Amino acid sequence: MKIDPVKLTKELISFESITPRDGGAIEYIAKILTKGGFDCQVLEFGDNGTKVKNLYAKYVNGVPNLCFAGHVDVVSPGRLEDWISNPFKPDIRDGMLYGRGAADMKSGVAAFIAAMVNLVAEKFEFNGSMSALITSAEESTEEYGTKAVLEWMESKHKKIDYCVVAEPTSNKRLGDTIKIGRRGSATFELICYGKQGHVAYPDLADNPIDKMITILDKIKNTTFDNGNEHFQPSNCEVTTVDVGNSTDNLIPGSASARFNIRYNNIQTPDDLCELINEICSSVTDDYKLSMKNSRDVFLSTPDRNIDIMIDAIHKETNIDAVLSTSGGTSDAAFIKDVCPVIEFGMVNKTAHQVNESILVNDINKLTAIYKEFIENYFTPANKVLNQINIITGSPLQTLY
Ligand SMILES: [Zn+2]
Repeated sequence: MKIDPVKLTKELISFESITPRDGGAIEYIAKILTKGGFDCQVLEFGDNGTKVKNLYAKYVNGVPNLCFAGHVDVVSPGRLEDWISNPFKPDIRDGMLYGRGAADMKSGVAAFIAAMVNLVAEKFEFNGSMSALITSAEESTEEYGTKAVLEWMESKHKKIDYCVVAEPTSNKRLGDTIKIGRRGSATFELICYGKQGHVAYPDLADNPIDKMITILDKIKNTTFDNGNEHFQPSNCEVTTVDVGNSTDNLIPGSASARFNIRYNNIQTPDDLCELINEICSSVTDDYKLSMKNSRDVFLSTPDRNIDIMIDAIHKETNIDAVLSTSGGTSDAAFIKDVCPVIEFGMVNKTAHQVNESILVNDINKLTAIYKEFIENYFTPANKVLNQINIITGSPLQTLY
């Protein structure tokens, strides 16, 4: 069985898989991979309100186990009238494929499925296993997605040795960027308390907004660090400040705010929490602070497999990829706890945007890159190294 990755991308786009629903995409992929010789486990996690479908599929042929990971859920398309074509009806115009999830990341999922299944069909000889970990809860309710699948795998003693996450990591052209790490993400919630009163008698009241402004100003003016070789400096953004006061002459009793810190590997969430706590207590002692660390920071140390990916990209695109840790978080932050992980995929320029689109030909190129990567991953080290030496230039720089 041979898979056309463009056709498969179009089919996946037509599933209305607005996160965390999969819209039928998971069962559809399981059917394809089963036909391709993979053992498939559709795994449903969640509670009464939310049910999330995931898939773990494996072509078993010994160790090591090379895994490709991705998600089929997409963010909402927003107002349909803003789109030139229906976001769930894939449309090709001028060499571009339009649809929600075209970039993030149904094309990436289609590309690795095609690469693996086609290699099996071509009777690719290798010692090892290939697997796919596909979730429909990357854009939301992540606790029932990849994280839950990894916990299930651990309980069943299923091991992954190396993982490529097919998120769209390329910036301008396919192949320009591989992600070897991501910043962590910690969200803080702060409530400042005061004493309610009449605006005409401020001496009888205690305005919590004044304290909130002072605290947020101090936090915004804090230099957490200056970054390092692989990471940009840690950064805080205030995402909301709420008082909920609709009365003109009332000093409110409390004010709340939320802010998010994207932090690098110089920081730990506990240290950040302590620092923010110190800033708050330097202004007032009447406050409540809480923190939710949603993803940890991670960095994969450059190794042979990263070289193999750089080599495969160069072969197909003639581009020397740079290694980067920029951008948001992804499920790689969970996978890094079980094995080394890198991320590489399509151009992300239009991800989460209206008229999301990608170059049709990039889907074929990405499939070829993954195929080349798989072949060389399973090739003894000395054979691959000879090929890698052909590459010139130093891709070991960080792109911000
Ligand atoms: Zn994504």
